[in-house]
Amino acid sequence: MTINELMDIKEKTKENQLFENYEKIVQKQRNYFKTGITKPIEFRIKQLKKLKQAFIAYQPELEKSLYADLKKPKQEAIATEIGITIAEIDHNLKNIRYWAKAKEVKTPLFFLPGKSELYYEPFGVSLIISPWNYPVKNLFGPALGAITAGNTLVMKPSEIAPATSAVVKKMIEEYFDPEYITVLEGGVPETTELLKVKFDYIFFTGAPSIGKIIYMAAAKQLTPVTLELGGKSPTIVDKSADLTVTAKRIIWGKFVNTGQTCVAPDYLMVHKDVKEKLLAKIKEQLIKFYSDNPQQSPDYGRIISDRHFERISKLIQGDIYCGGQTDAADKYIAPTLINNVTGDAPVMQEEIFGPVLPVLEFTELDEAIDFINSREKPLALYIFANSKKFQKAVIQNTSSGGVCINETIMHMASPEMPFGGVGNSGIGAYNGIHGFETFSHRKPVMTRSTMFDVPQKYAPYTEGKLKFINFALKRLL
Ligand code: NAD
Repeated sequence: MTINELMDIKEKTKENQLFENYEKIVQKQRNYFKTGITKPIEFRIKQLKKLKQAFIAYQPELEKSLYADLKKPKQEAIATEIGITIAEIDHNLKNIRYWAKAKEVKTPLFFLPGKSELYYEPFGVSLIISPWNYPVKNLFGPALGAITAGNTLVMKPSEIAPATSAVVKKMIEEYFDPEYITVLEGGVPETTELLKVKFDYIFFTGAPSIGKIIYMAAAKQLTPVTLELGGKSPTIVDKSADLTVTAKRIIWGKFVNTGQTCVAPDYLMVHKDVKEKLLAKIKEQLIKFYSDNPQQSPDYGRIISDRHFERISKLIQGDIYCGGQTDAADKYIAPTLINNVTGDAPVMQEEIFGPVLPVLEFTELDEAIDFINSREKPLALYIFANSKKFQKAVIQNTSSGGVCINETIMHMASPEMPFGGVGNSGIGAYNGIHGFETFSHRKPVMTRSTMFDVPQKYAPYTEGKLKFINFALKRLL
């Protein structure tokens, strides 16, 4: 036997062991789910409260781990990861009883007397796979939907944010029974094996290319999925926009978490009459936000890994308007604007996912709309304009996961709004009630009275019966 053959056998054995271990874990969760213990609302409320306690107890450790992984400033850790998750737990606690109640819907005349209701039924064992950029929010946001809907959970945090992954595992192990919630750490080999196990629901957040792998694995077991993906989110600025506020809101949305946000403005399309003015304001505001040396600012983060640092650094070329400085040892990339960019530039070929903002210009709105529509459907689209006509034209003539007018990112933080992509940017949505619905099967239940029993529906069929059925289809449905 050759060394290569031996290595292959060793690798296969390791894979089999992983798979068997994962299968056991999932089987235990399935048995637990089958006892029906997760279904009563009181159980779910207790778990949500426990999760809130866990978050409060672990807040300092989570803040530290987010700093270790991403140099995330405390304010961002609270606003975009920990505090927002606690606020969402409270929101779910406040609404769970109403959400989970069966909802009565209309019953057509033909079915009367009778009643039609929609029941919300948990799927069973859910798998949540999350990325590294918001390693708390993107893991627990979906988890809240799964818990509120009464599922059990296997959570797979990202290996690229190892400090946060470790804290999350410790926290969940301390507060929850593994038959109900368990955290499985690991990277590609582990997730590949995990995906061979049958789950009842898979919720994935990550890159579109990996989303396709998840979708294929889920298809083998006919497992329903939500895919929260990414893409290039455009930001269109009209000449009717308030440029000072626009500049600040673009900077906030683009450079929070050092541009490593799925809904960060990926590129700007600015009306040529206001482009120079807007760029000057952005430059001025950037200094106010992060000083003239952002590397020294406690409020500016770092790139997650050397690989991503290399990838983003290569995109910095052309007409650099401001920024452009990099420091590999510190994984630092300055907030950077590139002016006079065209669609064929390297920076316009892939999601940037870093602090580099290309600027394109347009004269007629149609040009900007055609440009956006010639590319994959984005996760978010931002419109800065006070002209209602302009706003409407963009909304009606483009397709994107969501839209935010005169603001960036905030639309995804509202628990009342579904957050998700369309086309290449994703399938399905979550947040608040939408997360609860995502992790629930909406089961229609019709109850019919036995008082009347329409004889026309039964065989033997006759012309007269058919006439009645035709009448019922036209008039009574
Ligand atoms: P990624 O797709 O590389 O990784 C996401 C998860 O998938 C990780 O847990 C990783 O371990 C796992 N994974 C990676 N490769 C895999 C493979 N071959 N087989 C099985 N599992 C695999 O994404 P990322 O780099 O962590 O995050 C960046 C991407 O995520 C960006 O495209 C961004 O836009 C997107 N994102 C989307 C949202 C959203 O809500 N729509 C939020 C955050 C990030």
